[in-house]
Amino acid sequence: MTHFNDKQPVTVYIGLGSNLEHPARQILLARSAIAALVGVDELAFSSLYSSPPMGPQDQPDYVNAVMAVTTRLEPAELLRCLQRIEREQGRVRKEQRWGARTLDLDLLLYADRQLEEPDLIVPHPGLVERAFVLYPLSEIAPDLQVPGRGALADWLARCPADGLRRLA
Ligand code: ATP
Ligand code: CA
Ligand code: CA
Repeated sequence: MTHFNDKQPVTVYIGLGSNLEHPARQILLARSAIAALVGVDELAFSSLYSSPPMGPQDQPDYVNAVMAVTTRLEPAELLRCLQRIEREQGRVRKEQRWGARTLDLDLLLYADRQLEEPDLIVPHPGLVERAFVLYPLSEIAPDLQVPGRGALADWLARCPADGLRRLA
């Protein structure tokens, strides 16, 4: 059962990552799956970036991107939809944190909301310190204010590219 806000659609940013089974293809497949969700419309999609893995180093580089959508889905419901897409694309949840995966979809920002629920923290805590989020996000939303954290541009200016490469 789908619950819509009674309000206008809000803008949401989603971080996409993959480092298994043709990562760039996984990202583009996920983009289509997100855009096809009922109650979600694509606004913008960044370039694809290649980035070295966080955490365990014995895994392939990642392909990352950021997508902007408008949606009338509530945050928890959108997260459930994103997790379903992860599963549909073969995401296997393992013990090891930040291990290799076919698809990772993080809810980065939901309008100007700040949420601190057990299974949903928004803005995503990694957003302001991860090059593979800051660079693609700044590409599609350079003037963004991160709720509770100030201007995105200030975080970007302080963040080294850290091996991040924009893919052709
Ligand atoms: P990180 O969250 O540091 O990027 P990860 O993406 O590898 O690490 P996952 O294993 O994909 O972490 O997710 C762990 C849990 O994070 C999920 O079960 C989910 O409930 C929770 N979570 C909390 N906030 C968010 C958010 N903003 N977006 C996605 N998942 C979130
Ligand atoms: Ca993540
Ligand atoms: Ca995740």
